Order: sequence, then C-alpha cells, then structure tokens
Amino acid sequence: MRLPHVCFPLRLLLYTGPVMSCLFCRIIDGTIPSNKVFDDGKCFAFADIDPQAPVHILIVPREHIGSIAAAGDEHAALMGHLLWIAAEIAREKNLDKGYRVVINSGPDAGQTVDHLHVHLLGGRSLSWPPG
Ligand code: AMP
Ligand code: ZN
Repeated sequence: MRLPHVCFPLRLLLYTGPVMSCLFCRIIDGTIPSNKVFDDGKCFAFADIDPQAPVHILIVPREHIGSIAAAGDEHAALMGHLLWIAAEIAREKNLDKGYRVVINSGPDAGQTVDHLHVHLLGGRSLSWPPG
C-alpha cells in the first residue's frame, strides 16, 4: 500500500495499524515476496505457500477487507470480480476437469489470515464434504 505523505505521528499510526500489519496487504505492496499469478487494479493473486492441491492460488482484493463477513454493500461488485478472476485463472491453468473455489470466514471455518481471500484449488480430485 502506498502511504500518503503525512506527518510522522500519523505515519507511525498507519504503519502499526491493522492494515500495515496484515500479511496479505504486505504481499500486495511487495514488502513480503510472493509468486504472483495475476494483478489488476482491484485484486492480486499469488500461489499459496502451503499448497493443498497441484494448483492452489489465493485471490485477494487490493483493498483490506477482513473477511467476506466484513464486506459491505459497496463491495458487491468486487466480490463478483474475485470469483470472475478465479474462473479466468482456472481457464488459464487448464483446470478443465474441475476445481474448487473456497472462502473461509471466521474461526469456525478456519480462517487464519484476516484479509479476505478466495482459494482456487485444482489439479486433483477433491473430496466432499470438507472437514
Ligand atoms: P485461510 O486458512 O483460509 O485463512 O487461508 C490462509 C492461507 O494463506 C493458507 O492456505 C496459507 O497457506 C496461506 N499463506 C499464509 N502465509 C502465506 C504467504 N506468505 N504466502 C502465500 N500464502 C500464504
Ligand atoms: Zn490486509
């Protein structure tokens, strides 16, 4: 995230606030390296560091949104865009036999990074129901 030119105390607050301490915000701004798959003005996609399938890609909004549960009315089109990009990447990766798109939200779903992300999993047969 490019920070605005602001006075030192405000800058410190921004750097130590929830956005700058967010792992995926830091991946988006390049502070933490990733294997980028796709990038546009709205979202960023990169390989999962602990892949659960031959293809395991995370698609995240550039805007920090904590989870899908935290998304508001104003994010409705962005939610659709994330799914569209997941399908575009699946096509590009030739996942013709199928794939799964997963969004974990909150502790019961096992969300571990509090920045909304869409998992794209494919390249093997996936069992159902999930654990
Ligand atoms: P979730 O459990 O749905 O919150 O998914 C978080 C995902 O982020 C997990 O699949 C992790 O393997 C993945 N992850 C954590 N740290 C990194 C990282 N530095 N680069 C890429 N993926 C990561
Ligand atoms: Zn974030």
